[in-house]
Amino acid sequence: MLRQFFAYYRPWMGLFWLDFGCAVVSGLLELAFPLAVRVFIDRLLPQGDLALTVLAAVVLLAIYLVNTGLMAIVTYWGHKLGINIETEMRARAFDHLQRLSWRWYDTQRTGRLVARVTRDLEEIGEVAHHGPEDLFIAIMTFLGAFALMVAIHPGLATLTAVIVPVTVALVIVYGGRMTDTWRSIFSRLGDFNVRLEENVGGIRVVQAFANEDHERDLFSRDNANYRRAKLDAYRIMAASISINYMAMRGIQVIVMVSGAWLVLRGEMTTGGFVAFLLLAGVFVRPLEKIAAVIETYPKGIAGFRRYLDLLATEPDVTDAPAARPAPRLTGAVRYEGVGFGYDPSRPVLRDLDFEVRPGETLAFVGPSGAGKTTALALLPRFYEPTAGRITVDGIPVTDLTLDSLRRQIGIVSQDVFLFGGTLRDNIAYGRLDASEDQIREAADLARLGPMIDAMPHGLDTVVGERGVTLSGGQKQRVAIARVFLKNPPILILDEATSALDTETEREIQAALDRLAQGRTTLIIAHRLATIRHADRIAVVADGRIAELGSHAELAAKGGLYARLAAA
Ligand code: ADP
Ligand code: MG
Repeated sequence: MLRQFFAYYRPWMGLFWLDFGCAVVSGLLELAFPLAVRVFIDRLLPQGDLALTVLAAVVLLAIYLVNTGLMAIVTYWGHKLGINIETEMRARAFDHLQRLSWRWYDTQRTGRLVARVTRDLEEIGEVAHHGPEDLFIAIMTFLGAFALMVAIHPGLATLTAVIVPVTVALVIVYGGRMTDTWRSIFSRLGDFNVRLEENVGGIRVVQAFANEDHERDLFSRDNANYRRAKLDAYRIMAASISINYMAMRGIQVIVMVSGAWLVLRGEMTTGGFVAFLLLAGVFVRPLEKIAAVIETYPKGIAGFRRYLDLLATEPDVTDAPAARPAPRLTGAVRYEGVGFGYDPSRPVLRDLDFEVRPGETLAFVGPSGAGKTTALALLPRFYEPTAGRITVDGIPVTDLTLDSLRRQIGIVSQDVFLFGGTLRDNIAYGRLDASEDQIREAADLARLGPMIDAMPHGLDTVVGERGVTLSGGQKQRVAIARVFLKNPPILILDEATSALDTETEREIQAALDRLAQGRTTLIIAHRLATIRHADRIAVVADGRIAELGSHAELAAKGGLYARLAAA
């Protein structure tokens, strides 16, 4: 896993080495300062030359100044390295999300996904910056300080080193527990985001059912769980930080007392003593840093694991290795013995057979839950059939690239999704490079013209999140306008079941009729008007085509269709 992590550094090696180099020099200067103080006290001070002392002070100041500059560079460029890596990871995560299949999304909760792309990656970026380099510098100054302390007084240096096992023990005791706690916090945070996202998204339903109190109870449970997980983390953090602090300050006192004793016995110079005290500070500080890295590391690793899991999730539906772009299709569609089930043990479609000629309209009718929507979702390959095959213009859809196939199928589904933007953006979603005139024309064809003219900002009117400011019929027409712009040879229409008023229904019907002209149209019909318009009608029952024929034929037959039509 670490190798996968370091692979993200590769494009930024220049930045890495710049940052790293500055940090190394900064660490060395940190070590040089105590030595300079020693020379100052032991050699310069006894000479009683004030000018020389001032000069020495200037040199010390210069050392600090250089270090200040280096620290600024390390802080900025180091974080830049982190954010570069974070940005790259976020882009990859988003890119991957674009390709994952409906089957996967069916099982996901939005809030959790959002958390992965935001929070997780932020934590990883933090580790990317503070991880390897901080650890190296910490170890370097730690060992360097120890070597210099040994040079000044080996015995005292050894005494100081007793701090090390204490800190290591702390890390061992608390490190693992911290990892577990962070994993739990992440998971709670996910619950939390999911709850929030669903509540806000469904607030109109919540209020319509006056279920605010119920929602608040659910939310407080997640809120309390999150709090508990965080408190666990803080408890561990408090114990490890305070024990660490105690150990470090304790060692300082021990060094001070023993050092003073050595100075009094003449075994150590005053300058050596002061330098040793300063070095002891440089020696113990990296331990804090190492502990800090160990503290942030689990967070980043937990996030990085989830990130890798996401990237490792393969889309169910992908381009076959030999897939080729579809030519412009005439729109012949054929289902041959198609079987499918969301859950393999519960088939939704069995042995579905039908054929549609280019330009023909085939209406699907049948009881709710019969599998009509599912059957048509297989054509653009949102799901993969478990048996049989589907061809367009005689080519199996699996032989075509997903992109080129889906570009030639227009879909108006039951619940239209609009993006929170302007009407123009939402219509132009059908063809991103559409000109103003083309957008306007598509809007007119979809019978949106009068509505747009009546709106204060016309096409620039903002439709609100998911198009909440539009009526159901208006949203349908935006969806139709999108497909006019897209201009595909094949149409899939899933009629809204919700009752539209007669006027709106007629408008939408007229727009759909216009849209269907010259295109192969597969329509799931709920309205008699639509069914009459169809060339042929397929009655779907229990995952099969039960009856197929024209309205007149089926009505005369007196079967399932005749009964449905009568009802
Ligand atoms: P229809 O459009 O004819 O009303 P659907 O194709 O929507 O029927 O549904 C057929 C069956 O598949 C139903 O039993 C439904 O519960 C189930 N189903 C639909 N969508 C999914 C899904 N995404 N995951 C699991 N089961 C589903
Ligand atoms: Mg349906």
